[in-house]
Amino acid sequence: MISWKDKKEFWIAGARIADPAAKKIRSGCLLVRKGAIAEIAWQKEVDTDLPVLDAAGMLLAPGFVDVHAHLREPGHEEKETVATGTAAAAAGGYTAVCCMANTDPVVDDPSVVEYIRCRAAEADNCRVYPIAALTKGLGGEVISEYRLLRDAGAVALSDDGRWVENSRTMRTALEYAGMFDLPVVSHCEDHRLTANAQMHEGFQSTRLGLKGWPAAAEEIAVDRDVRLAELTGSRLHLAHLSTAGSVKILKAAKRAGVRVTAEVTPHHLTMDDSMLETYDRNLKVNPPLRGGTDIAALRAALRDGTIDCIATDHAPHTEIDKQVEFNYAPPGMIGLQTAFALLHTELVLTGELELVDLVRLLTLGPAETLGLPGGRLQAGDPADLVLIDTDEEWVFEKEAILSLSRNTPLVGRRFTGRVQGIFLEGNWRSVILDG
Ligand SMILES: [Zn+2]
Repeated sequence: MISWKDKKEFWIAGARIADPAAKKIRSGCLLVRKGAIAEIAWQKEVDTDLPVLDAAGMLLAPGFVDVHAHLREPGHEEKETVATGTAAAAAGGYTAVCCMANTDPVVDDPSVVEYIRCRAAEADNCRVYPIAALTKGLGGEVISEYRLLRDAGAVALSDDGRWVENSRTMRTALEYAGMFDLPVVSHCEDHRLTANAQMHEGFQSTRLGLKGWPAAAEEIAVDRDVRLAELTGSRLHLAHLSTAGSVKILKAAKRAGVRVTAEVTPHHLTMDDSMLETYDRNLKVNPPLRGGTDIAALRAALRDGTIDCIATDHAPHTEIDKQVEFNYAPPGMIGLQTAFALLHTELVLTGELELVDLVRLLTLGPAETLGLPGGRLQAGDPADLVLIDTDEEWVFEKEAILSLSRNTPLVGRRFTGRVQGIFLEGNWRSVILDG
């Protein structure tokens, strides 16, 4: 018997199809032809001579898009490579990932953009869109060559990890980025307020004796950047928003017509600063895990559309990097493989977020935020899809981590809902089912 896998043309039948643009989940069948979505029939079964993948009981959606990941290559291949990072991404349901510019060398030269794209093509796990440095060497003073970087394939500009303190430089960067219609992604942190900070500043930091990172350090930066976006009319994207105050500024800016978008990470939505009492260095992230009021505001902002998308801020560090005193551990956790399962378990199954909204925040939301292809179910588009069993219960085991680094506090966690695999241009990739 000829399997659907051997064919260039096949139906995926019996699945519930999540269409984020229509904000609906309906039973349907999807025809893949030569790597593209050829047709969607909104019915349970199809009468066909073509091979059929029986996806009964599964959820089919556009492949996830991550606008914020650190793939660490070039320069930190001991933490992650483009190949291992994208393998983790594919296992997590992602068909496209944007990688940040704080590599070594920094992505401030077209040759580095090209290098990352070559490594991604060789690995062939999912699409990779490099984000280039906003300023040369991430130095915060001299802007990079935006046109050359864009022509090489960069999709946005960011000094992620560092906030551009110099307001004049930031204004110039926004003005130039606007000329090339490149979004500027800002990591909002007033570094003078966060020097040596270890966790969110509040009751828990006092109790645990760790230096605090006040919410105001983020909000001051968000406020300035929103004002500069308004002044320049350029596109600003706020990375990993973490406080209720930031959400408030964002909401007002959107209402005033400023071209600003924002992302939130799975960990800022589901973990709080009280968890740091274990001093687990895998919970040390930047911005830090916040308190309950902030988490509630972030969740509400997801529901009302103030926050546009969920991004992982996948930040691999080796065990040696993290096996130091808390104060010396670098911030960051990996997240590509667990994002959907964590959010489905903690937000969808608890009734806080609709499943179709979670899908939208992982697909259409991020794609529209940075103006990327994908995130939609449209005839003629590449068949970049994810297949999910929303009922499967599973435990996230250390051995199943595909990232080169294992810095996650989620090892051993039980989840409900598991990504079964992705289709990349119609080609099936899976780490669970037989390949
Ligand atoms: Zn950042």
